[in-house]
Amino acid sequence: MPPKPSEAPRRILVTGGAGFIGSRFVTLLLDGSLPEFGHPEVTVLDALTYAGNLANLAPVGDSPRLRIFHGDICDRSLVTWAMAGADLVVHFAAESHVDRSIQDAGSFVRTNVLGTQTLLQEALKVRPGRFVHVSTDEVYGSIPRGSWTEDRPLSPNSPYAASKASSDLLTLAYHRTHQLPVCVTRCSNNYGPYQYPEKIIPLFTAGLLDGGTVPLYGDGENRRDWLHVDDHCRAIALVALGGRPGEVYNVGGGTELTNAELTDRLLKLCGADRSAVRQVPDRKGHDRRYSVDFTKISTELGYAPRVDIDEGLADTVRWYRENRAWWEPLRSSPLGKDDDFRVDICGSA
Ligand code: NAD
Repeated sequence: MPPKPSEAPRRILVTGGAGFIGSRFVTLLLDGSLPEFGHPEVTVLDALTYAGNLANLAPVGDSPRLRIFHGDICDRSLVTWAMAGADLVVHFAAESHVDRSIQDAGSFVRTNVLGTQTLLQEALKVRPGRFVHVSTDEVYGSIPRGSWTEDRPLSPNSPYAASKASSDLLTLAYHRTHQLPVCVTRCSNNYGPYQYPEKIIPLFTAGLLDGGTVPLYGDGENRRDWLHVDDHCRAIALVALGGRPGEVYNVGGGTELTNAELTDRLLKLCGADRSAVRQVPDRKGHDRRYSVDFTKISTELGYAPRVDIDEGLADTVRWYRENRAWWEPLRSSPLGKDDDFRVDICGSA
């Protein structure tokens, strides 16, 4: 049973709250879409890296219940300030792009591992009622068939996934060692509005809307489960309010597609055909398939994905079509160009 709003957390710290998923979570908290939280005060702590964008918070930008701290989760004194009085911490902040981690993993280790540890250490003083660490299915590594349950040993393959696995283990260790009430969520590939155009869905959509070509890795047969960002945020809300301390919860969308199948759907939605697809050499160490078993969160907390993939993709493409002013500057900046970075056509985090 979710708590009554009167018992729900009043002060929530959201790290990475100007990124794709974090900003959506903050928006849903502040616009009343998660009524089980009542009317919380929300503090965002975000370094505003290339992936962070205050425009992502525009829908709730004038809320008197929103405070934004611009800074680094590795900065202990800033973390002390931002976390003061928080009764819930939801930790999204991360370097999140696999291909950048293949080029140079330094910032991934710093933010994802050291940054998480800095937050956990501060949480020992503040003792929030729950600390939710948002992680990824990629920590399990590739699975040819079947689906991972939460007790599967971790076997990450990319430097990104290895840094997230490290942060998961640290988070769980703070529970075992210090009884910090943490939960870890491991979700599949998210999609929806405001996703930085380096991941497959916004990258391909923006490229196709511009009449260009899109780069498909290898044979296009890598498979991913797709999860709408709103379903993911609802799952995080369930875990934040009802998850058992020290537990891991997988979150899936229940929709598995090969990259080629996903590309075909995007081509259709954007009015393009297969001539717009460039085959490019595969990513180094590219995991073939991810799949999470999300029975645990479904049975314990009543989670079920609600957004149908066809409707979700159509809405997402429509959003990119109608919000060029958001993504055009990002694509034209050096960090948004797919020639500079091997784009994450797996759409993985
Ligand atoms: P994102 O890259 O869009 O956003 C990350 C945010 O973190 C940005 O706003 C960035 O400015 C901020 N940030 C980065 N380094 C920071 C630092 N040192 N200090 C403070 N802020 C910092 O990522 P996202 O897609 O929204 O992912 C959010 C979380 O969900 C991540 O932890 C990621 O590993 C996880 N995840 C994402 C997906 C996905 O499909 N997008 C899938 C599984 C898990």
